[in-house]
Amino acid sequence: MIRMSLPKDGLPAEQVLDEIRALRAADRPTHGGRLFAYVYDPGLDGLDELAMAAYALSAHVNGLDPTAFPSLLAMENTLVGAAAVLLDGPEGVVGNVTSGGTESLMLAVKAARDGAPGVQRPRMVAPVTAHAAFAKAAHYLGVTLDLVPVSPQTLRPAAADVAAAVGPETVLVACSAPSYAHGVVDPVDEIAAAAAAAGVRCHVDACFGGWTLPYLRRLGVEVPPFDFSVPGVTSISVDLHKYAYTPKGVSVLLHRDAQLRRPQYFAYAGWPGYTMVNPVISSTRSGGPIAAAYAVLRHIGDSGYLALASRTLEAVRGLADAVSAVDGLRLVAPPSSTVVCFTADAFDVFVLADELASRGWHTQPQFAFDGVPPSIHLSVTASVAPRVAEFGPDLAASAAAARAAGPVSLPEVSLDRPLPELLAALGFGAGLPERMAPVNALLNAVPPHMREALLVDFLGYLQRPNGE
Ligand SMILES: *Cc1c(COP(=O)(O)O)cnc(C)c1O
Repeated sequence: MIRMSLPKDGLPAEQVLDEIRALRAADRPTHGGRLFAYVYDPGLDGLDELAMAAYALSAHVNGLDPTAFPSLLAMENTLVGAAAVLLDGPEGVVGNVTSGGTESLMLAVKAARDGAPGVQRPRMVAPVTAHAAFAKAAHYLGVTLDLVPVSPQTLRPAAADVAAAVGPETVLVACSAPSYAHGVVDPVDEIAAAAAAAGVRCHVDACFGGWTLPYLRRLGVEVPPFDFSVPGVTSISVDLHKYAYTPKGVSVLLHRDAQLRRPQYFAYAGWPGYTMVNPVISSTRSGGPIAAAYAVLRHIGDSGYLALASRTLEAVRGLADAVSAVDGLRLVAPPSSTVVCFTADAFDVFVLADELASRGWHTQPQFAFDGVPPSIHLSVTASVAPRVAEFGPDLAASAAAARAAGPVSLPEVSLDRPLPELLAALGFGAGLPERMAPVNALLNAVPPHMREALLVDFLGYLQRPNGE
């Protein structure tokens, strides 16, 4: 990037758009069913155009004050209502639209913390497989996170271990439906029962699966109970910008009743301006994402989501079969939602990920953790279904290439070298190195705290206005 002041005279609209198109050319493909993380694509013709038109209609509307912009309040309540019906919300269920899963989780933790004002040093309990956003919430909100291990076989915690971790200062017990990394649904009923027995809130993080599990169940998949039908579940989060296929910036946080939600709000009248009353972290909120989500939900409709879930299920099964058909590859967990996660016993998964990338398949490598080997994560969306037949042969060819290449040797670099030197030694030039396996092998080998520090430095290095 170049250090750039504003152009003295404004540029023509088409030229500016061309600049963005040129920048976008370096991005991974958001459409076409070959990207297995970050972007959720239903592969429906015309949906983007509809979403963008709706976005444009409300982009300038401000959710800061719903009395000034009742359109936004109405659309938000519609989104919350749809999520509540899907997740078996009882009479009296309430919720809000947030900017994403992380914000939903932060607010669930805030509501739990502030809902227990007598607790001096609040703590929360979650399985280690819970999303990293819980750690972020705990950190931001001064809540101590007590992690419960999972079985390396089932990738689920034992409910007894969760119960044992709950103490007098615990304000929240969290679990996932399903976990992002492996797509495994926690034993929500037992965990919620343990929380209820201790008089503690229980949040189900259904950010990933909240919009698909109910449809998968209707398609005959055995989905364990995870929603408000489970006694003791006090709040649930579901990201619409994942499997509701809305543009980014929309998640829903539901509470079983208004009393539970009340401490989620922040209000402040101690200044000379307007009294600020916010249900979520941002105060000014664009109406764009909410209107786009409203349009997408109402346009796809219930039978549309069922059909998308059916296509996704077909893709999941096809991909899992492709993995099982390759000698040396193994599913980390049997797919029970929309994640396919696999590892390689006989060769290097990071080399495999590079081989897949060179064939146009963009996967998400995951590092080894607590007895679980390094793996490749695929978030599977409906757009993948027509691609599945091409994936199998490419996976087999990639595996053969990875086997032939052998494991990467760890790059011999000293990690205390200045970052620009370290990056050069690792093959970073103007962009990422073509092969990421050596970098991933290095990151996989160092302890998590060092991985965090290295990646923070790396991002900080990238995120400079005059960086190169
Ligand atoms: C994606 C995800 C989150 C975080 O959501 P963001 O929208 O990325 O902030 C939290 N929990 C689970 C299970 C997720 O899949």
